[in-house]
Amino acid sequence: MFNRSRRNLARWFTLSMGSILILFAGTTYYLRTEDRLEATDRLLYKKTRIMAASMQYDLSEGKPQVDLGNVPLLGSGLRPLGTELVYVRWYDSKKQLKRFFGTPPADPLMIPSGFRTVKTRESLSTEKIWLRQVTLPVQEGNELIGYLQVAIPLGDIQADLRQFQLALTLSVLVTLVLIGFIGWYLGGIAMQPIRAAYMQLQRFTADASHELRSPLSASLTNAQVAQLLAADYPEIQPSLENIIDSTQSMNVLVNNLLMLARHQGRLAPDLLKPINLNIFLSELAADYVALAAAQKIKYIVHIPEQYIKVLGDPDLLKQAVKNLLSNAYKYTAVGGTVWLRLETHSSWAIVQVVDTGIGISEKDLPCVFDRFYRVDTQRTRDKGGFGLGLSLAQQVVQAHGGQIRVTSVEHKGSTFQIQLALLHK
Ligand code: ADP
Repeated sequence: MFNRSRRNLARWFTLSMGSILILFAGTTYYLRTEDRLEATDRLLYKKTRIMAASMQYDLSEGKPQVDLGNVPLLGSGLRPLGTELVYVRWYDSKKQLKRFFGTPPADPLMIPSGFRTVKTRESLSTEKIWLRQVTLPVQEGNELIGYLQVAIPLGDIQADLRQFQLALTLSVLVTLVLIGFIGWYLGGIAMQPIRAAYMQLQRFTADASHELRSPLSASLTNAQVAQLLAADYPEIQPSLENIIDSTQSMNVLVNNLLMLARHQGRLAPDLLKPINLNIFLSELAADYVALAAAQKIKYIVHIPEQYIKVLGDPDLLKQAVKNLLSNAYKYTAVGGTVWLRLETHSSWAIVQVVDTGIGISEKDLPCVFDRFYRVDTQRTRDKGGFGLGLSLAQQVVQAHGGQIRVTSVEHKGSTFQIQLALLHK
């Protein structure tokens, strides 16, 4: 129980810290990408402006004519800017391509002015590459004379970002593992006071139940003796019977509490004995034949011929199965049926207690194994229950490394199943 809580604490700690870490890493990566793109844009803009500044215009028939002779890459012989540019394109004011260097455009100029990231194929290569492209409108006075479009490759930035991404991923993974360990360690520290308080409570319950047993037995014996001695006084008989009933039910409660407090966790291997479930259950089943007849309930016991053995504490297992059988009788009306079945499934021995009783609603089903949980307080108190029978059965089964399950349909019946590891000897 404590380990599960510790694991949950560690898991939630890792999850929350991990989410913050991943968010932080994502933001850092985004800012780095933006930063690199901004630097690239600045460089690209500078180059494009230099090119635009190298253009010369003259008026011919009232219209400006553009002379690209001195423009790097577009003009003749001048290539000072050409080394890292993928293409340079000159469009006239009607967006018609007039001259270009590098890859020719696939489409006419449709995009608005400004920066864009595009994926394109270099003229001689078949592989597509990422480019940063700027389209700059060029004006003479107030008149638009054309558009200069320039692109540079993003290969270097991509390689740099990939490296950064790898470094970030690795550091996030390492930090996550570290956070996991820290979470586990902190979970352990957080559980210490809870564990101590729980142990103290367990000790108190065990001690109190143990101390209560003797006075309860004395009260019961005295009340029974008084009942015998007062046989001639019928007026005090109901009061004595009341005392005996209450004391007996207190006895059951105290014994259950003592058992719950004493048997925490897995049972030590030296306490376990080989149990032949066929004989064990046949003997136990016989105890309920008279009750079945008295309550007019059909009782069917199915125990196979083939021997089924498990390792366990016979007294504890007996208590667990008895609790299930007693409940089946408590919550099944006259004319109903109760089954006790034993079977095997792969490496498990399966003990089933099935009834056609009142069943348990879907809402209550997940809680029936909780301590002091009663589906209907009034109904179960009338039947003498404290809501401890099932939690005791569950604790016993878990102490044996087994599992207990329930399926139920309201007004139809319930099936309780105990699963214990088979002993292959
Ligand atoms: P109790 O001693 O009060 O019966 P249990 O722990 O044995 O306590 O059971 C918890 C609750 O589960 C009970 O209050 C009862 O309502 C419900 N329950 C247990 N077994 C059955 C069953 N076979 N059929 C219907 N309800 C059941």
